[in-house]
Amino acid sequence: MLLKDKVAVITGAASVRGLGFATAKLYAEQGAKVVIIDLNADASQAAAASLGAAHLGLAANVSNEQQVNAAIEQVLGKYGRIDILVNNAGITQPIKLMDIKRENYDAVLDVSLRGTLLMSQAVIPTMRAQQSGSIVCISSVSAQRGGGIFGGPHYSAAKAGVLGLAKAMARELGPDNVRVNCITPGLIQTDITAGKLSDEMKTAILAGIPLNRLGDAQDIARAALFLGSDLSSYSTGITLDVNGGMLIH
Ligand code: NAD
Repeated sequence: MLLKDKVAVITGAASVRGLGFATAKLYAEQGAKVVIIDLNADASQAAAASLGAAHLGLAANVSNEQQVNAAIEQVLGKYGRIDILVNNAGITQPIKLMDIKRENYDAVLDVSLRGTLLMSQAVIPTMRAQQSGSIVCISSVSAQRGGGIFGGPHYSAAKAGVLGLAKAMARELGPDNVRVNCITPGLIQTDITAGKLSDEMKTAILAGIPLNRLGDAQDIARAALFLGSDLSSYSTGITLDVNGGMLIH
C-alpha cells in the first residue's frame, strides 16, 4: 500500500463522479485516512462514509479563510497530522472574454486560486513541523493552451495562476521537505461538463486527442496517487500533463 497511515485532505471531493472523489477512493484503497472537504456537510460526510469508517467529511468553502482554518483544526484534532493536500475544488464557466463580469471573475478565481492559497496556508505549518508533506494542485490544460475547450478566459487565468503559485510554493517549501506539484487534466468526463457538451463538440475535441478518448476520473486519480505518495519523492514544482496527448509540448 502506497499511502499506509497517511492523512490526506482532498477539497471538492464530494461529487461522486468527480476527480476529487476518484482520488479519495484510490487513496483510501492505498491505506490513507481521507478527509473530504466540500461545500455541503451532508454530501461530504456521505462521500467519506462510503469509503469506510476511518474517513472524515467536512464542510468548508475553500475561499473562506475562517471555514478553511476551522476545517483544518478539526482534521488535526482527529488525526494529529496531515501528509497530503489535494487542492481539487474548482468551478468553470463557458463564457467569452467580453462577457466576463466582476462576479464571474471573482467566483472562478476565488475557488481555484484563492482556495489553493488558503488551503495550502492552512496545512503548511503542520507539514513544516512534520518536515514532510505533499501538496497536489489540480490545474488544467486550459492554463497551458489558453483555454479553447470549455472554460472561459478567466478559468484559464485562474488555472494558470495555480501553476505559478504551486511552483513558487515548491521553491519556498522544498527545504522543509514539503513537495508541491500540479496536474493539468485534459477533458475528463465529470459533472463539471455534464450535459454541456454536444456530440459535435465531443467529436471535434476527440479529433485533437491522439489517445482518441476523453479522460476518466481514474486517469487523474492515478496521477494524484503518484504525486501524493513517495513514488514522486524527488519531484517538486512539476506539472504533470494527463490529457491523452491533447497538448504535447
Ligand atoms: P466537479 O464539478 O465534479 O467537482 C468539483 C467539486 O468542487 C464539487 O464537489 C463542488 O461542490 C466542489 N466545490 C466547488 N466550489 C467549492 C468551494 N468553494 N469550496 C469547496 N468545494 C467546492 O468537477 P471535476 O471535473 O471533478 O473538477 C475537479 C477539478 O479538476 C476542478 O478544479 C476542475 O477545474 C479541474 N479540471 C477538470 C477538468 C475536467 O475536464 N473535468 C479538466 C481540467 C481541470
